[in-house]
Amino acid sequence: MKKTMSNINHHLTDALLMGYSAGTLPEAFSLVVATHVSLCDECRARLAALDAVGGEVMLDCGQEAVSADCLAATLAMIADGKGREDAPKARRKGALPAPLQDYVGGDLDAIRWRKVGGGVRQMVLRTAGDASVRLLHIPAGQAVPDHGHRGTELTLVLQGAFRDETDRFGVGDVEVADEDLNHKPIAEAGADCICLAATDAPLRFNAFVPRMAQRFIGI
Ligand code: ZN
Ligand code: ZN
Repeated sequence: MKKTMSNINHHLTDALLMGYSAGTLPEAFSLVVATHVSLCDECRARLAALDAVGGEVMLDCGQEAVSADCLAATLAMIADGKGREDAPKARRKGALPAPLQDYVGGDLDAIRWRKVGGGVRQMVLRTAGDASVRLLHIPAGQAVPDHGHRGTELTLVLQGAFRDETDRFGVGDVEVADEDLNHKPIAEAGADCICLAATDAPLRFNAFVPRMAQRFIGI
């Protein structure tokens, strides 16, 4: 039996899932998407449906007219939940989700933390492209050092929880922040927070989303 989280409140956007399905996301973002999907039944189902119908439907829809029929058909197929079976799945042998273990080279005890100030530690993971991804270890009750968003930032909670001006984020939750959001995440008291965080600065996220996807979802 696969073990997944049922109490996830913050999910991936359609744009991210479409980009992942189309293979257009930078590796750093793909890792966050794959890790969330490995924990989340809901996003795994959405991704599977997009994988099954996405590219085909987008081609069929033509250049100018994205008809109401076409969109309705797409949504119906997604609602059917048709999809492939090889989407990322949870493999919970260790504390870290499987997609992450490949990058860390093992489980939690294989992480090579480096201090970044204020008690916060990080491990930058090696990925191709200009986007970057790192593991963050934030002591309970501690705030993340100030950081700006020049592009899109994805933050996935792996352990503990944090709060910011927008909401509370627990294990499995992913926050999608852009340059409009100024926030100061603070780890909840009681448990240290471990997050996986990816940023695409200085590139703009929209550059990675297929143009047809942008028309569908209106970004
Ligand atoms: Zn989800
Ligand atoms: Zn941020």
